Amino acid sequence: MAQTEGPSAYPQAPPSAGSQAATLELRDVTKVYPDQEQPALSHLNLKVDAGQVCVLVGPSGSGKTTAMRLINRMIPLSGGDILIGGRSVLKRDPVELRRETGYVIQQIGLFPHLNVNENIATVPRLLGWDRSRIAARVRELLELIGLQEIGKRYPAQLSGGQRQRVGVARALAGDPPLLLMDEPFGAIDPINRNRLQDEFMRLQHRLRKTVVFVTHDIDEGIKLGDRIAILRERGTLAQYDTPAEILTEPADEFVAQFVGTDRALKRLGLETLAGVKLVELNGIDVGDRRVPITTTVRDALSQVLAAGGAALAVVDGEETVGAVTLELFGGLLRDGTLNGTQSEERAAR
Ligand code: ADP
Ligand code: MG
Repeated sequence: MAQTEGPSAYPQAPPSAGSQAATLELRDVTKVYPDQEQPALSHLNLKVDAGQVCVLVGPSGSGKTTAMRLINRMIPLSGGDILIGGRSVLKRDPVELRRETGYVIQQIGLFPHLNVNENIATVPRLLGWDRSRIAARVRELLELIGLQEIGKRYPAQLSGGQRQRVGVARALAGDPPLLLMDEPFGAIDPINRNRLQDEFMRLQHRLRKTVVFVTHDIDEGIKLGDRIAILRERGTLAQYDTPAEILTEPADEFVAQFVGTDRALKRLGLETLAGVKLVELNGIDVGDRRVPITTTVRDALSQVLAAGGAALAVVDGEETVGAVTLELFGGLLRDGTLNGTQSEERAAR
């Protein structure tokens, strides 16, 4: 699995008392709001495997939030069907469905008059768990998000990043097989946003939920998604593919524009040096410059540039395993593949 070799090492712990993740399928999903002529979503087809992160990206107004609200039946479908774990949402009780679907939004929607513990306990309470089970679950989740200390605080006493993490913990509390996250980190500053993204990846590696993650930030999508669905105006699907495929083969001009002219560089952020055929070290002057083999190719390139184009030694633990040079990166950017195998692994994941 590519992620275990990624920039940070993720714990290998098994899921905690986990429910199964559910498959999700959108079949020809169409939504026309009352009194609107144009559909907000039209004939959207998407399949998400259990335990995968599907990122929905697209410009503002392309129907991302509409898709989320259709999935947990906050609003009714105009056409098509949505299946969770193979069962149509139309045949489910909407209240029950919402309890089984974790929902995280940008404004978080924590209850201001409840403390963190009580906020996280919301769904387990609705599910009728007994007190000790709820308490244990709250403790477990606070630990999972690294906020054991703040259970007694109220939302107004938390930073934006902390609030967002509590929002994620609350969404996970009932152990839902499906998690819907609508621009969850959209209002967070870049540094904390990056941290939250890393934390999300660590959590997801452990919990393996099926996740639909909405963002308007393509970089966030590339980082977090197993697959990315790019929507264009009026909710039509422009492309649904792995991040690597979207970056190397954008389906059309709209997608190419959306992912940006620096897509070749972005693609280098998907892989680590472990997936690159390194240059042999003999005779190359690397001084005391070294990078771990777990560094992304993009970050390694940045470091080479920061060193004025000088080569770096690549180390795997204590051992030096080769070097990276500016010429090597030039080649990688030109031929558009690293050595092929890594991208395929990611796609097969
Ligand atoms: P996104 O989340 O991608 O920004 P939305 O799903 O919020 O897009 O909106 C998609 C389209 O549907 C937009 O044109 C928006 O104006 C319209 N829309 C959203 N909610 C409503 C509503 N309750 N009534 C009428 N139109 C709506
Ligand atoms: Mg939205």
